[in-house]
Amino acid sequence: MLSPAVTGESQLVSLDSTNQPGGSGSPLFGLNQQALAARMAAIGEPGWRGKQLTEAIYRQRLTDLNEITTLPKPLRRRIAAEGWQVGRPSIVQVFQSVDGTERYLVKAGEQTVETVWMPEGDDGEAGDGSDSTDSRVPQVSTLRPGITIKLGAPDPSHLGTRDSDESQPGTGHHSTGAVGGNRFRATICVSSQVGCAVNCQFCLTAKLGLQRNLTAGEIAGQVISVFDRHAVEVGRDRVNLVFMGMGEPFLNFANFMAAVRLLVEEVGLSPRRMTVSTSGIVPGIERFAQESPEVRPKLAISLNAPNDRIREEIMPINRKWPIEAVMDAVRQVQLRPRERITFEYVLLAGITDQPEHAREVARLVRRTGLPAKVNLIAWNPGPGIAYTMPQPEAVEKFRATLAGEGIPTYLRKPRGRDIYAACGQLKRTVEG
Ligand code: SF4
Repeated sequence: MLSPAVTGESQLVSLDSTNQPGGSGSPLFGLNQQALAARMAAIGEPGWRGKQLTEAIYRQRLTDLNEITTLPKPLRRRIAAEGWQVGRPSIVQVFQSVDGTERYLVKAGEQTVETVWMPEGDDGEAGDGSDSTDSRVPQVSTLRPGITIKLGAPDPSHLGTRDSDESQPGTGHHSTGAVGGNRFRATICVSSQVGCAVNCQFCLTAKLGLQRNLTAGEIAGQVISVFDRHAVEVGRDRVNLVFMGMGEPFLNFANFMAAVRLLVEEVGLSPRRMTVSTSGIVPGIERFAQESPEVRPKLAISLNAPNDRIREEIMPINRKWPIEAVMDAVRQVQLRPRERITFEYVLLAGITDQPEHAREVARLVRRTGLPAKVNLIAWNPGPGIAYTMPQPEAVEKFRATLAGEGIPTYLRKPRGRDIYAACGQLKRTVEG
């Protein structure tokens, strides 16, 4: 059954409205420099105070108005008295996996959403064009199983995987601090909605239904809170963002793109290190195609099936926008040099993991005429979902068949299965 939220164009539009806060007691986090300058101007302060606020909130990552020492003390007191607050979403609970992955519950209003930190990426979507992690990155090894922590400093062994010098293979080491010149690499998986309306049959988040859209501040705030926890230094550390957490970003398009703009323009991240995944919301892809390459992340299509018949079964959204309609929309995106479209493909035992499916996917990808690659994901089990994990031999055969057909193919490493952090497993398991 299609969820009512995705059955009609009008409902798509209603899901798409921005819900940026505006009142004086609303969070500053989520507003761009222009909006912060306007807030300052409204109380008779010069516009450049907006730049000071931007610097403090997004670059210095300050969360308390009183810490913003670039603002005169009387002004800090005044705006605090008027109810101004930074209001950045905060991490309220941490689940640590044996493989170093961390899953967070991040407070968004009265609810929580989930964000995932993967210390060496997942071999599927590096987000920066490098396709997979490279051999220079050592494995994290000294981890404790299934730890849940309430609000705390990160375990030093989880801080991520640092490369001491990218030009010297094999010299990586773990570090607990921001050692000069060192860098580490990781991927953060970000949520765009509380729950999801799309109802993919293999996905745990779908069980929640759509509860609400996240604001731009709540989306960008997940990233900055995780940066803070791991002392990420923008410009030095190599952190990729994938908008593949809870929700369908293109059903919250305006807020999603506003968050991306904040992350690019105010935080200083590169859109080439960001990838957004959509289940195939055609009007969203068409809008995405209009975005400037200066801010547009890379695009991944959650394909998951070799043809419309199977895709309709596992992704009811396909009845509204079948594969060819999605491909037509994707062709409108002007790719940057060397950029490729990613097709994500979840392997479900006996349903999508057969060699003939791989050959069909190869034909389909070739027919698009687009520079593309395929990321394979062996399905991650979740409670109450009646699919079966594919056998390792079936996964390898599928990968080899697709690669043999000349399609660049990557097998995504399962991350954080024990803490329900892997693809399709995100669901609020603990109320924030
Ligand atoms: S896979 Fe993505 S689009 Fe599909 S239900 Fe889950 S969160 Fe929504």
